[in-house]
Amino acid sequence: MNPPKEAVSNLVMSRITSKLDYGNWTAREKVALSCNILALEGHSETLAGQITLREADGTFLTSPLAYGFDEIEASSIIRINDRMEVLEGSGAPNPAIRFHMWIYRQRPEVNSIIHTHPPYVSALSMTGHPLAVAHMDATPFHDDCAFLSEWPGLPIADYEGEVISAALGIKRSILLVNHGFLAATTSIEESLYLSVLIERAARNQLQAMSSYGALQPIDPELAKESHDFLLQPSIVRASFAMFARRALRSRR
Ligand SMILES: [Zn+2]
Repeated sequence: MNPPKEAVSNLVMSRITSKLDYGNWTAREKVALSCNILALEGHSETLAGQITLREADGTFLTSPLAYGFDEIEASSIIRINDRMEVLEGSGAPNPAIRFHMWIYRQRPEVNSIIHTHPPYVSALSMTGHPLAVAHMDATPFHDDCAFLSEWPGLPIADYEGEVISAALGIKRSILLVNHGFLAATTSIEESLYLSVLIERAARNQLQAMSSYGALQPIDPELAKESHDFLLQPSIVRASFAMFARRALRSRR
């Protein structure tokens, strides 16, 4: 009799996790690299979008307002408090970060939030359809991507913070209709990973919908298994490191 799939997968992962390259970057470097990766992935066409990382002392690292994600280096990263006052660095935080604070208050386990308007997520957000999980690579969003079906307006007032954090609930990500998406997870590596994956998932969904209309759904049990596998910290961290090396090569 063959061993159960989970036992095989655990054995394989235990053999490879110590051999993977996770990189060795400071928190500041990781925020800057995340900005650069987002830029390479098409998330920085305009100034819209923000990234925050909550540190153990309750302060936040973020990129300064009015810089493209491709322009950000570790030295540009600023530190702010939860009232959005700048504690370190020059430049101002994006006022839209107010809605991140709503989520951090509701979700003590969340340490990093990324919100952007990349092209395929934006296009999907215009259709009124939620994100479909109909491909293996989209399974990290299985039962883990909320959907806000009405745009509450510009993200500078507290109202949007309330609406988005309520719609997000305990999920890792949310598709925002007529707007974009947000990832809120325990680490910057995971929020970045989901940001890259959701844009690819939206692209694939739009291409599949335009070719055939109806999509072939994935069995929920198999989707859950794949969700849990692809969100293992070793896979998330190794993916982040791969994206980061790509961003570092493109800086040269
Ligand atoms: Zn936005």
